[in-house]
Amino acid sequence: MAMQEQVPAEETCLICGRHEVEGIHICNQLICDSCQKKIVETEVTDWKYKYYMNKLAKLRLNLTQCTKEANVIHAGTGGEAGKH
Ligand SMILES: [Zn+2]
Repeated sequence: MAMQEQVPAEETCLICGRHEVEGIHICNQLICDSCQKKIVETEVTDWKYKYYMNKLAKLRLNLTQCTKEANVIHAGTGGEAGKH
């Protein structure tokens, strides 16, 4: 099981700053799975939400160019339109 091809050199999660985490990439920035979940689950009124949005604000500058990927975060829990 040598699946190291997918692992880029030294990526750190934009939110928690951990190395070697798996998650989604948005505009070449990594957000790990756990942080992604936290963001999705965080209430807007929660102070943490501001914290996350603050972090994401850096991304948002770029997000106009990759809005589709950005939607992954906000569509996470409720946005699945898979029914036909
Ligand atoms: Zn993280």
